[in-house]
Amino acid sequence: MHPGTSRNRERTGQRYVSKTSAIARKIKGVRHLDVDLVQYCGKCWRPEVFMEVKRYLVSDSEWRQMRQHAKDYNCVALLIIETLDDIGVKAFYPDTQLMSEVEWGGEERLTELLEWARDRHICHGLL
Ligand SMILES: [Zn+2]
Repeated sequence: MHPGTSRNRERTGQRYVSKTSAIARKIKGVRHLDVDLVQYCGKCWRPEVFMEVKRYLVSDSEWRQMRQHAKDYNCVALLIIETLDDIGVKAFYPDTQLMSEVEWGGEERLTELLEWARDRHICHGLL
């Protein structure tokens, strides 16, 4: 069993799973994921940040696909850990291909990162 599967409510039948998801997950040799949140440019609709949101710190393999999206789109990937009293953020920066350590800076730090990602985006407008 993949680590985390037993904690995943979607796969344990406690949450509605769409027919599409059930059908798609029968396809061999591929994987699927639900992206928790994507920040897009409001002008060109290109992505700026891919976000994976968890309630506890997970291994880097659990947000690998977010980092791949970030590389492919030259944007930022964030692993966000929402606890009862703080918000932790681990960031992947495509320019350096480096990951930060978890920063526990609450809403303020997360907002800073999202605004920074918005501001680093070079907009070329609509296709
Ligand atoms: Zn843009």
